[in-house]
Amino acid sequence: MGKITGFMEFARVEEAYSPVAERVKHYKEFVVGLGQAQANTQAARCMDCGTPFCSNGCPVNNIIPDFNDLVYRNDWRAAIDVLHSTNNFPEFTGRICPAPCEAACTLNVNDDAVGIKSIEHAIIDRAWSEGWVVPQPPKHKTGKTVAVVGSGPAGLAAAQQLARAGHGVTLFEKNDRVGGLLRYGIPDFKLEKLHIDRRVEQLKKEGVTIRTGVLVGEMPKGSKVTNWAKETISAAELQANFDAVVLAGGAEQSRDLTVPGRDLDGIHFAMEFLPQQNKVNAGDKLKGQLRADGKHVVVIGGGDTGSDCVGTSNRHGAASVTQFEVMPQPPVQENRPLTWPNWPMKLRTSSSHQEGCEREFAISTKAFVGEKGKVTGLKTVRVEWKDGKQVEVAGSEQIVKADLVLLAMGFVSPVTTVLQAFGVDLDARGNAKASTELTGGYLTSVPKVFAAGDIRRGQSLVVWAIREGRQAARAVDEFLMGASNLPR
Ligand SMILES: Cc1cc2nc3c(=O)[nH]c(=O)nc-3n(C[C@H](O)[C@H](O)[C@H](O)COP(=O)(O)OP(=O)(O)OC[C@H]3O[C@@H](n4cnc5c(N)ncnc54)[C@H](O)[C@@H]3O)c2cc1C
Ligand code: SF4
Repeated sequence: MGKITGFMEFARVEEAYSPVAERVKHYKEFVVGLGQAQANTQAARCMDCGTPFCSNGCPVNNIIPDFNDLVYRNDWRAAIDVLHSTNNFPEFTGRICPAPCEAACTLNVNDDAVGIKSIEHAIIDRAWSEGWVVPQPPKHKTGKTVAVVGSGPAGLAAAQQLARAGHGVTLFEKNDRVGGLLRYGIPDFKLEKLHIDRRVEQLKKEGVTIRTGVLVGEMPKGSKVTNWAKETISAAELQANFDAVVLAGGAEQSRDLTVPGRDLDGIHFAMEFLPQQNKVNAGDKLKGQLRADGKHVVVIGGGDTGSDCVGTSNRHGAASVTQFEVMPQPPVQENRPLTWPNWPMKLRTSSSHQEGCEREFAISTKAFVGEKGKVTGLKTVRVEWKDGKQVEVAGSEQIVKADLVLLAMGFVSPVTTVLQAFGVDLDARGNAKASTELTGGYLTSVPKVFAAGDIRRGQSLVVWAIREGRQAARAVDEFLMGASNLPR
C-alpha cells in the first residue's frame, strides 16, 4: 500500500524525455526512467484504497498495490516476482502500454494517478540489470507437443507458458525475426529490439524451438503484409504433427482508403513504411527504402500507428508532417466523475506529436490528386457529426499538398488465408471465432486449434495480447492434461 500519507506528501513525477532536437537524430529510446529513490516515493503514493480498481483496469490484472508496496519498502527482488506472476514481459508494457490502470487508479478521481507504468518500468529494468530474470525450464516434460503460429506478444506469452508447463513448443514465424508488431511495427524509439532478443534467448533456454521465415498456409495474392518467409508449411502438416495448435497471427490486414487517385505513386500503408525503418535499424540493407526525406507527409489516421509514422517521418527529415483524424478533436481534460474508472476519450499528445506535426481533426479525404502518376496532394473536406452521422461542411473543400501519404487507419482483420487453411469459423468481423470462457475458451471451431491475441479479438494492445496468450496457454494445457496449474 505504500506510505499511508504518501499521496498527500508527494506529487506525481513523470518519466523524463531527452530533448526533441537531440532525440529526432536517432532511433534509440529516449525515455529516462525513474531513479530508484524516485520510484520509492512514487510507489509511496499508492494509498491503500481497499478496492484496487487499477488491477481491474489492467488487462493482465497486475497486482499493482503489492508491487508498489514492495518498491516503497525497497524489496525490488520480491517486486519483480509479483510483477512476473501476472505478466511475462513487463519491459514491453512498462514502455508502450497506454496504462488503462492509471485511468482506473482511485487517486485519479480528484488527483494525479499513481505512476504505475513508470514503476513497472523501473522494476523490470532493475531486474534485468541485477540478473534476476533467468530461464525457468520445466522440471518435467509432458511428452505433448504444441505449435504456436505467430511470434507477437500473444504467441510469445503462449509459448513461454506452455514450455514452462513442460510441453514441447515450436514457434512458427513468417518474418525473418521474432516479435510480431513489437519487432516490425512499433518503432525502435518506443521499444528497442534488444528487449525482444533477450526474451527470445530466455524462451530458447526454456525449451521453445523457434522457426522464423516459415509461413503457415499461404498469403493472399498481391498482399502488402510483411512476409519474409523462405519456406511454407501446411495447416494439415501442423495438425498431423502436433497435439495442439495456437494461432496467434495478429490482425495484419490494413484498412484501405479506396477513393479516386488511390493508385498514384507515393500512397502507402503505414505498415509498408514502418517495418522498413525497423529493418534498417537492425542492420539490414534495403534497396529503395520508402523514406520521407524532404517530403510533405500526410498521415491519415489519428491513432498510435499514425503517431509512429509522424515520429519516423521527422527522423527521416520530412519537410512537413500533417496528421488527419476524421473524428472531432476530443476535450483536453476528461470529465472524471463521468468517466472514472474507465478509459476516457481525451486529446492525447504523444512524444512523436511533440517532435513536430500539424494535427487536423474532423477532416476527410475525398480523393488523391497527382501529376505524372505521382501523388501531389489530397482533396479534403471538413466534416461534422449530426445525429450520429458524418456530414460534409459545404464549401470546405481544399487541396492539401503531399508527396508522401501514409494510411494508418487501423486494421480490418487477420490475413484470413491462414484461418481458411485450418477451416476455422470466423466472427462477424473476420476474426477467428473463439470464446474466452474459463472452460473451453480460446478453442476455435476446429478440434485442438486455439486462437489468441489480435487474430481473435481484432486490433488491440500488447497487454491484451499477453493476457490472451497466457490464458490460451492454460486452456491448451487443460485440454492436453485434463487440468492445469498455469495461472490465468
Ligand atoms: C505501428 C503500431 C504501433 C502500435 N503501438 C502500440 C503501443 O504503443 N502499445 C500497444 O499496447 N499496442 C500497440 N500496437 C498494437 C500491438 O502491437 C498489437 O495489438 C499486438 O502486437 C498484437 O499482438 P499479437 O501477438 O496478437 O499479433 P502480432 O504482434 O501482429 O504478431 C503476429 C505475428 O504472427 C505472424 N504471422 C501471421 N500469420 C502467420 C502465418 N500464417 N505463418 C507464420 N507467421 C504468421 C506475423 O508475421 C506476426 O509476426 C501497435 C500496433 C502497430 C501496428
Ligand atoms: S500492463 Fe499496462 S495496464 Fe497493466 S499495470 Fe502495466 S501499464 Fe498498467
